[in-house]
Amino acid sequence: MPTKRVKKTPMHARDAKLRATDFIEVNQGYAMAQARFESERCLRCQDPICVSGCPVHIPIPEFIHEIATGNIQKAANILRSANPLPAVCGRVCPQEDQCEKVCHMAERFKPIGIGYLERFVADWERTHGHTESPKKPSRDQRVAVIGAGPAGLVCAGELARLGYSVTIYEGLHAPGGVLRYGIPEFRLPNDILDWEIDLLKNIGVDIVCNVVVGKTIQVDHLFDIGYSAVFIGTGAGLPRFLGIPGENLNGVYSANEFLTRINLMQSYKFPETDTPLYVGQRVAVIGAGNTAMDAIRSALRVGATEGLSIYRRSEKEMTARIEEYHHAIEEGVIFHWLTNPIEIIGNEAGWVTGVKCMRMRLGAVDESGRASPQAIAGSEFIIPLDNIVLSLGNAPNPLLVNNTPGLKKNKKGCLVIETDIPQTSMKHVYAGGDAVTGAATVILAAGAGKDAAAAIHKDLSKNTSHV
Ligand code: FAD
Ligand code: SF4
Repeated sequence: MPTKRVKKTPMHARDAKLRATDFIEVNQGYAMAQARFESERCLRCQDPICVSGCPVHIPIPEFIHEIATGNIQKAANILRSANPLPAVCGRVCPQEDQCEKVCHMAERFKPIGIGYLERFVADWERTHGHTESPKKPSRDQRVAVIGAGPAGLVCAGELARLGYSVTIYEGLHAPGGVLRYGIPEFRLPNDILDWEIDLLKNIGVDIVCNVVVGKTIQVDHLFDIGYSAVFIGTGAGLPRFLGIPGENLNGVYSANEFLTRINLMQSYKFPETDTPLYVGQRVAVIGAGNTAMDAIRSALRVGATEGLSIYRRSEKEMTARIEEYHHAIEEGVIFHWLTNPIEIIGNEAGWVTGVKCMRMRLGAVDESGRASPQAIAGSEFIIPLDNIVLSLGNAPNPLLVNNTPGLKKNKKGCLVIETDIPQTSMKHVYAGGDAVTGAATVILAAGAGKDAAAAIHKDLSKNTSHV
């Protein structure tokens, strides 16, 4: 096979030194010629295993084939029929663990750049005009969706397409969930997110912000005011902490708080915006997942001169998308593998000055399926720091479930759903996304929203009145 067909067509990324000082998007996307060239690598397999590797089952060879023939509008229609958030997913999905991992080309060469092609098509559609006409509800049943993250947005979009009148209630002042408050603009620009959300509004999805269900309004009340079914997609926004001395010092942030201040509240424009953020010269994030990469790369962009990632396991076990990890290295992030914080150290004024750590070695595989880190006795040392950002994972926020007596949760605080359908312990109340699985991925949340919409449709179709 000629070399040109063996390698994945690379995507241009902005210069690392330049981009590490601003929030402009790092990846620049394919041009038409690159997209067509990459699409021609696809084998159009008899057994397109890539489709089963995709949680929303995008007809991958079909949309790639349309790119190869130059029919990008048709490619967009195919893509959007399976995934209402292709511009988002083309940017943030961990394709290397999903469709691209199983792609037959990967058996001998590099997999097809499915994510890059998805992004190309969605961006083309954005600049050339989306063709779906505005929609009005054609059924008399109404569905309430709680949470405007990917699970809620996709569930709402699917139901609106089926003719239901759908309202999303979102606790924050802007929709998007983690896509808005967690993932920074240099990975997912807000205007891309806004555009995909506007398409959902165009087909009839109503979004009401600043409503915290369980506080402003209760789930039972949603039925009283005329909704026939409810979908809960409240995500997993409750940060975990280390439980070590010094965590309450000034200058210690949870990654959620740190990223929300930057992304949602735009603290880097303070005092033009209302929310301040203190960031010193040396900042460390504890953790090495996607959230950790976002936090430490953001720290560099808001003024830190040194950014470290401290992780108790090794590079092999870290969970960040490989592309984000490489981008972080290029931007100067320094990784301290096999290093575990045991105490955060502060000064008399109550501000962080450093972190005491221990060196680790890896032992047997633990319940997470990864090698368990074990402390090496006598290996303590101190890393001087101005800020620490804790990125240790998130659990579901307990507010809604604690204020809704009929809802069952498991030991991890996740909502319990039935095994065959995503219905919770309450009749006509469905759930999906991180609120059910614990912190996972955008596409898994989107897939859960799609499945729940199908289940709600089946439930409500039993006594449908279709106008
Ligand atoms: P969320 O996105 O959390 O949305 C839930 C929404 O519900 C929020 O808007 C919240 O405000 C709202 N809500 C909560 N409680 C209430 C209530 N009581 N009433 C009303 N509204 C409520 N995944 C990837 O695939 N790729 C990545 O690169 C990636 N990077 C990430 C980076 C960060 C910083 C983080 C934190 C996560 C990342 N993830 C990534 C994970 C991914 O974003 C989540 O798995 C996904 O967003 C979950 O979607 P969701 O709809 O279930 O929840
Ligand atoms: Fe194309 Fe890979 Fe899917 Fe085969 S498995 S159809 S090569 S994307």
